[in-house]
Amino acid sequence: MAIAISGPRVLLRQLRETMAEPLAPQARLDKIVALIADNMRADVCSFYVLRDDGALELFATRGLAASAVHMTTLRLGEGLVGLIAAQAEPLSLENAPAHPAFAYRPETGEDPFLAFLGVPVLRAGQTLGVLVVQNRNAHLYGEDEIEAMLTTATLLAEMLSTADFDALIKPGQDIDLRRPRTFNGTGFTEGVALGKVVLHDPRVVVKNFVAEDTEVELGRLARALDTLRLSIDDMLSHGDMQSLTDHREILESYRMFAHDRGWVDRLTEAINNGLTAEASVERVQNDTRARMMRSTDPYIKDRLHDLDDLANRLLRVLTGDGETLGKKELPENAVLVARNMGPADLLEYDRTRLRAVVLEEGAAISHVAIVAKSLGLVAVGQAENIVALSEPGDDIIVDGQGGVVHLRPSPDMVQVYVDKVRLGAKRRAHYLELKDKPAVTRDGVGITILHNSGLVDDLPMLADTGAVGVGLFRTELQFMIASHLPRLSEQIDLYREAIRLTEGKPIVFRLLDIGGDKVIPYLRAEAEENPAMGFRSLRLALDRPGLLRIQIRALLQAADGGPMKILVPMVTDAWEFRATKAVVAKEVERLRNAGMKVPSKLELGAMIEVPSLLFELDQVLPEADFVSIGSNDLVMFLTAADRANPRVAKAYDPIALPRLRALRHIVDMARRYTVPLTMCGELAGRPVEALALMSIGMTRLSMSPPAVGPIKEMILGLELEPIRASVSAALLEGASGPSIRDLLRDWAERQGLML
Ligand code: PEP
Ligand code: MG
Repeated sequence: MAIAISGPRVLLRQLRETMAEPLAPQARLDKIVALIADNMRADVCSFYVLRDDGALELFATRGLAASAVHMTTLRLGEGLVGLIAAQAEPLSLENAPAHPAFAYRPETGEDPFLAFLGVPVLRAGQTLGVLVVQNRNAHLYGEDEIEAMLTTATLLAEMLSTADFDALIKPGQDIDLRRPRTFNGTGFTEGVALGKVVLHDPRVVVKNFVAEDTEVELGRLARALDTLRLSIDDMLSHGDMQSLTDHREILESYRMFAHDRGWVDRLTEAINNGLTAEASVERVQNDTRARMMRSTDPYIKDRLHDLDDLANRLLRVLTGDGETLGKKELPENAVLVARNMGPADLLEYDRTRLRAVVLEEGAAISHVAIVAKSLGLVAVGQAENIVALSEPGDDIIVDGQGGVVHLRPSPDMVQVYVDKVRLGAKRRAHYLELKDKPAVTRDGVGITILHNSGLVDDLPMLADTGAVGVGLFRTELQFMIASHLPRLSEQIDLYREAIRLTEGKPIVFRLLDIGGDKVIPYLRAEAEENPAMGFRSLRLALDRPGLLRIQIRALLQAADGGPMKILVPMVTDAWEFRATKAVVAKEVERLRNAGMKVPSKLELGAMIEVPSLLFELDQVLPEADFVSIGSNDLVMFLTAADRANPRVAKAYDPIALPRLRALRHIVDMARRYTVPLTMCGELAGRPVEALALMSIGMTRLSMSPPAVGPIKEMILGLELEPIRASVSAALLEGASGPSIRDLLRDWAERQGLML
């Protein structure tokens, strides 16, 4: 048994005509299966659709009992149809009833059919339904027929999302394509957002599926592939790209795929079967996705992303769809969904309409997460496969606290979150009332609450939280979002603007802390085995002092004769701090010689975030005007657990005894030398951790703006002295008692504190 020579092409054309005919939805579907059966010379053609309850419902048939339509269902994994849906792979059998998975359905009257071919109907690699042909006689459907059926299935997948198709769905039910889905990821920020999906990298929508002229389509594909290959070569030879190894690796793999014969052959075959060039790309990518998604090998998963990107690029070339079409026109309450993005991408959007960001990748302390936090967005990462499963405009709930994302949530779920948001708004209003109250514990200990910041845009939040200043301004964030290295004059403007926006409150400018996970796109960087411990931050600054000098010069000038506080990151050895101090002194001298204003009070501080410095505090403290603990890095280095790696980042409690002893040592030493000490890592913004810090004597806490309200509320209800005594005892006694965290929770409960 062979299909007609030009079978699939003729069939596709007939199907397209049928789609355009003025028919009732069921009549159209019936005609479609009849056409497929005729074309494949099959006795039966049936179309099953996966419903949101996991059942595969027979939606149309030619050859089986008509009374079974919308009545017969199979569960995922049940029967041959269920097996195909679950595995998302075609199945061809000579004698179907002999297969162990065969499920007999008397109402369909299918007993006498032996030959069987079923293919999954896929979209973005997900099964939406199953298309089956059967024959009375035993024979095996061959490769050509499987290919023809897969091509036809591509067209059916498109039909499923049309309004016409909705009329066929029974009331109270829905198809799987629109099923609510929940993603358990990692929360990067607190808060809840309800909104509409905006795909950062919109999938190209293929509108023309059926080719008018196959030769023309083959020509289009060949030209598009040429353009694609050239653009990859072009990017690879581009100067900056030479150095960024990660990008280079990705591009190399793009190039490999773009020249891969197997891929090109499959595309050509799909066109020969009657699809347009763009539909062939979608069809082939669908099959590849379905296969690769089932792999557990992380390498294969990475390659899947590359292939997705490449297919999308090719689709853009073919359809002429712009990369950033409509990017800035966001709906109200937009939620950006992306595989990953850089901080600069995020800042391109209209922030007044943006509520949240959901990424498939990312880590809590990655740049994009830090920027999202700065912008007051809710952010969740590691929401696996969400891009493929989302449609623009879908309803979405992002719960930063639980790290959960609900796509197309049920009305019940929406209600739960509407209540949560209302509660959140109430709490925010309450925190706003606290903003002018000094943060003093019930037993009279004053705590200085400061902001961590990094973008001039987030400085106005100082007025809302009532924080008394900025304890950490991460200057590198502004460098990361710039398209070129900011010149001296640009830096002066920037720092001046930051000073203006803090309205007389103190602000601590931290010198550039680049390298590690903070990549500056226009600065060359060598690939390193362990970037967090590599040529980064102060090491880089002292090795290439040009950048450092310009930044210090800009800061000194931006002070306009007022006070200036500069913080030196990643000090590992005391000499590095001294060397930086010498650069600062030289720049002050230079200003003076030029007859320009020098800061009225210049303070230079050291960050304590590399463990080695804990054993050199006697050298650093006498020379520093202030010090600041970077708990993110310090805890990472103390525990040898990468802060950016979600598998280990939370493995060790940062306030367990060993870490707390290290912190206590710094507090004691700073007190001995009467040097002001601030905690500026993320720890200070978390209630239990902040309580731990206060209980070991820390009184200056710098945190992200949304953390200020809850922490201040806790401080206002707190009696600190008895907690200090018990934590001190625990630090002396060692590990025999409860953990510090449990001990603090217990105290908080006794004092009625909300943690
Ligand atoms: C830290 O390490 O805790 C810190 C405040 O600096 P960053 O997070 O920017 O490395
Ligand atoms: Mg740090």
